Amino acid sequence: MLEANNSLSKIAPLQQWTKQQKVPFVIAGPCSAETETQVQNTVKSIVEFAPQVSMLRAGIWKPRTRPNSFEGVGEIGLSWIKNASVEVGLPVIVEVANPQHVEQCLRAGIDALWIGARTTVSPFNIQEIADSLRGINIPVLVKNPVNPDIELWLGAIERFYNVGIDKLAAIHRGFSIYGKSIYRNPPMWEIPIELRRRFPQIPIIVDPSHIGGSSDLVQPLSQQAMDMGFEGLMIETHENPEKAWSDAKQQITPKILGEILQKLEVCATKIEKNNLEHLSELRTQIDRIDDYLVELMGERMQISEQIGNLKKEHRLTIHQAERWAEIVKRALEKSKQTGLTEEFILKLFQQIHNESIRHQEKIMK
Ligand code: PEP
Ligand code: MN
Repeated sequence: MLEANNSLSKIAPLQQWTKQQKVPFVIAGPCSAETETQVQNTVKSIVEFAPQVSMLRAGIWKPRTRPNSFEGVGEIGLSWIKNASVEVGLPVIVEVANPQHVEQCLRAGIDALWIGARTTVSPFNIQEIADSLRGINIPVLVKNPVNPDIELWLGAIERFYNVGIDKLAAIHRGFSIYGKSIYRNPPMWEIPIELRRRFPQIPIIVDPSHIGGSSDLVQPLSQQAMDMGFEGLMIETHENPEKAWSDAKQQITPKILGEILQKLEVCATKIEKNNLEHLSELRTQIDRIDDYLVELMGERMQISEQIGNLKKEHRLTIHQAERWAEIVKRALEKSKQTGLTEEFILKLFQQIHNESIRHQEKIMK
């Protein structure tokens, strides 16, 4: 489905259900509730140093990758975070991974629920949680699945929508990869951007803590989230990050949180009429170039099909490794004069090459 879509059309705007005008919408709190004192101290300092925060978070049941690590304090932590939140007058959100968690959260008066990345991957699990919420219009924030699958992310949001929940948002927390990256979960911004294109009504909250996996990356990733025009941030904040029982490397103190939020530059996502005529002229030029690029690609594929016919006639393989190496070499050489990165050129040509192979395969059949 590549067209913009209007299902999920009744999702309520973020400002409406959060009763919050602060921009961005910031959720902060520890990765895990550890002790009652840690929760109280963290919450008090958040309110003191980061008044921009609109909602508190705390993990009560922790989905850990390997067993034998701290798996959360369980139900007892719900009253710690709820009491602290009532004291400072902010709502609180907790992660739920099954109907028992839902029941305990509702009983404890938790204000909103989030679905973790490891839960979003499982439609059975999501459906069970959604069924346990039928008729209860509590806000549900759905993290992306660990794997870069936009349909799975959307599917989870739809399952909550279908049981009558309209207070929905997506949380972008990056995607797992095998291999090295400076990020714990590379952001792959193109995925939340595509979600925004297809369903502009779904608010998107970015979690720079789990994307970066490191306290140093929280600030630049938060700014990037604002530059993309996303509505909110979820930032893991701990009174003493070094001593945290989970995700110690990525948590920041309430004081640093306050500094980051204060420095954040938030620009308008919509352009006021009249004041930017030059921008619309430049956009017209971009549109013209984009049209030309698409036409050129079409032409390139026609030639590729002619080559496909020749390969068929002479019984040659579609993929010719030497020719492909030559194409890449030429393109990289040429790109040196343009200021484009080698990584971009390589990715671009890989996509073009894939499309070309697809056209030739059609001919071979
Ligand atoms: C969390 O927010 O503490 C958490 C477990 O995150 P994720 O589901 O993104 O890994
Ligand atoms: Mn965490």
